[in-house]
Amino acid sequence: MLKKMSEYKYHSGIRLRIYPSHQQKRIIKKNAETARFIYNEMIACSKEIAAFGKLSIYIQGITERIQVLRERIKSVTSLKAHFLWMDDVDLDANMIANAKKNYAHAWKCYRCSETKNPPAFHRRTYALSYQTNPHYNRQRVSEATLTNGSAGFRDTSHVYVPKLGRIRCKGSRKILVHIFSMHSVRIGTMTVSRDACGGYFLSMQLASDEPFVTSLPKTGSAIGIDLNLKNFYMDSNGRCVNHPVYIQRTKRRVTRAQRILSRKARGCRRQHIPLRRGVRYQAQRRLVARLKQKIKRQRQDFLHVQAMDLIKNHETIVAEQLDISRLIQLRRCTKAIYEAGWRTFLDFLEYKAKRYRRIFVKVNPAYTTQRCSACGYILPTGQRLQLSDRQWQCPSCHVIHDRDRNAACNILQRGLATLSK
Ligand SMILES: [Zn+2]
Repeated sequence: MLKKMSEYKYHSGIRLRIYPSHQQKRIIKKNAETARFIYNEMIACSKEIAAFGKLSIYIQGITERIQVLRERIKSVTSLKAHFLWMDDVDLDANMIANAKKNYAHAWKCYRCSETKNPPAFHRRTYALSYQTNPHYNRQRVSEATLTNGSAGFRDTSHVYVPKLGRIRCKGSRKILVHIFSMHSVRIGTMTVSRDACGGYFLSMQLASDEPFVTSLPKTGSAIGIDLNLKNFYMDSNGRCVNHPVYIQRTKRRVTRAQRILSRKARGCRRQHIPLRRGVRYQAQRRLVARLKQKIKRQRQDFLHVQAMDLIKNHETIVAEQLDISRLIQLRRCTKAIYEAGWRTFLDFLEYKAKRYRRIFVKVNPAYTTQRCSACGYILPTGQRLQLSDRQWQCPSCHVIHDRDRNAACNILQRGLATLSK
């Protein structure tokens, strides 16, 4: 019996590097640009409808126009009837369906107030991506696997994507061998993308009834972590993890490369050459993109390693809930906050905890710094700790605290309290 993605017990994903031919690269570009076009067209339609809605007068022509726009958002046929070039054999029908789904999802996120602004146009960038998905034939297959769908793997080093055909791929050998050894794995949405450096990738959602990872041994320990600006985080056992130095080094290289890039852009402008055709500008842009990607990878690696370290050694992990929008109001910290990647770190912890069946709790960070973790005394308004106060003594029980460790202990206590409720 074929099951939907959501009916499976375990979910995971995989990202592969793919090596398309020139012909395939052309088709990828065409599909990605069409996906963006469809999304933007639907945004444009909804904007026009919204503008008509504000008029609140009844005019025959306007009602008809709204009807046409609504129809265009709703059905692919009327979209295709309006844009005849969409009848291209290279265009993947699943790509169109997924672009429409993404548009609907963007509105859903906005209505559930997950995002602040209503869906907006997607800009044209050097990076491209579109989504597609495999179909499993009910008559022919009884259970979905990695290889028996209309798209998916052919073997561990080749994938098949609709309209593109067979492409050589490369991914983590360890993960590939593991998922191929599993009994039944279904592939969900597939994203074909090109990054700003010109590398092509394919990521897939995977689902199975078997766990994707082997369970970790029970340790019975609980830990609280305090994210702060001075170091990356401090845990309630007093262990401190610093920001990695190597990212700073790459960052210096990026700054220099970007300075050169803007010089090349000036040169293009002086000679009236569009940036897209400036050979030296483009070469430098690729260098900047490569360096930025290096930073991204270095940071992601660091965050994965740190998150995995916590998940491996502790069964319960408590962290503070980050309200970035509030923190950003404290202007001076903005850059440090963004670069620290805390949000990503907490996201990693959350999904890893779920995957390895650990407990991860986020608690309200109010007063965690100003409260004594030994006796619960909260410093009154006049005696609040400043950012520069690293150590302090509790006026009530006279215990000397390290600022960050005390905060981590408070976070842990608060987390355990919410768990025992
Ligand atoms: Zn105290």
